[in-house]
Amino acid sequence: MAKPANYFYDSKIHIITQWCKGCGICTLLCKNNVLTLDSRKKAVVANPAACTACGHCENHCPDIAIRVSRPAAKSNARIPVAPVS
Ligand code: SF4
Ligand code: SF4
Repeated sequence: MAKPANYFYDSKIHIITQWCKGCGICTLLCKNNVLTLDSRKKAVVANPAACTACGHCENHCPDIAIRVSRPAAKSNARIPVAPVS
């Protein structure tokens, strides 16, 4: 069974709520459905365990309202490596 992203990484997402204008770009770009908009139309982290710290949300937020800490691989986890073809 596949392990969740947080088995391998300790990534953290910080949203600067005051800067978020609720455009929803980050929620659309995140393939792992980590982010959503709350009732105030502010981005919130709904599923932190699925974040792989890819940085798409951070890189495309027009208001630079997202910070993603780059993960350090957990020492107790073996990160799968894609086979070289
Ligand atoms: S892309 Fe930035 S401004 Fe737009 S909803 Fe996400 S955090 Fe807010
Ligand atoms: S860093 Fe990547 S996986 Fe994590 S919330 Fe942003 S887009 Fe989603």
